[in-house]
Amino acid sequence: MKSMTLRTYPKINLSLDVTGVRDDGYHEVEMIMQSVRLYDIIDVTVTDEHQEIKITSNKFYVPCDSRNTVYKATEYFFEAFPHAKCGVEIHIQKRIPVAAGIAGGSSNAAGVLKALNKLCGINAGKRKLMKIGERVGADVPYCILGGTVVARGIGCDLERISNAPTMNLCIAKPNFSVSTPEVYKELDSIEIKKHPDTTAMIDAIENENIDGIAKNLLNVLEEVTAKKHPIIDEIKNIMIECGAINAVMSGSGPTVFGIFNTTKDAYRAKDRLKKMVRFAEVTKTKV
Ligand code: ATP
Repeated sequence: MKSMTLRTYPKINLSLDVTGVRDDGYHEVEMIMQSVRLYDIIDVTVTDEHQEIKITSNKFYVPCDSRNTVYKATEYFFEAFPHAKCGVEIHIQKRIPVAAGIAGGSSNAAGVLKALNKLCGINAGKRKLMKIGERVGADVPYCILGGTVVARGIGCDLERISNAPTMNLCIAKPNFSVSTPEVYKELDSIEIKKHPDTTAMIDAIENENIDGIAKNLLNVLEEVTAKKHPIIDEIKNIMIECGAINAVMSGSGPTVFGIFNTTKDAYRAKDRLKKMVRFAEVTKTKV
């Protein structure tokens, strides 16, 4: 029996553009992903005492069966390395919000792939783990890489962006969740009014220009989610009133984040938002 405990970090989208729809229905995206310092804690144990995948979580609403991303990650890992097959016990201590647009489930799957790689003594490279992760979900390869990355295609063609500055953030999630596939489906029935300038955003990141990054925050999915849920604009406005340089929704939402010059302003936003929503935290980007 061997165990390890790891932290898995979610992401925010500094920008998210949808550039087309493929024949198979998948959306082509161009988005800039950025890891943040919030995290879940995962305990992974491998054992020869049984051959099952056993999952537990501190949150009752996280499915602990084959629907869980870490279950799928474990299955696909052993399909790739059948000689390593053994029993796996995983406890997920959820500290970040679920179904929030920050890839929590994907980051858990990425962490478990890395842990199994070590615990089973496989030593596969990141590229191989990313290929396995792609089967679990389009955000998993990014979560294996982490940091600041531009993702294209269906989200799995990844290119690192260097020099990203550390930024103060306030992250808040309204007290409801949205379904990512539904948001993408609804996007197909509207005309996107404004697309992000991905080149300008990459330039701003590479030049460590926080004002430039803040100015270029844009997520085309916000048009869909914010139209249905006015609280998204309310949260953005509160962040800006409290000193955020700018604020935007992450992924398919409903989580919103703001970029702040000072942690003091970020805490001011958190204190106000805590009266409105259950989840509001101050954190920083993880570069
Ligand atoms: P993404 O940005 O990749 O869409 P998300 O932050 O919107 O991610 P998740 O937190 O990954 O969403 O949760 C999406 C759904 O997946 C939830 O409804 C949840 O029931 C299910 N799920 C499966 N495995 C996990 C997991 N390990 N952690 C959280 N949710 C999980």
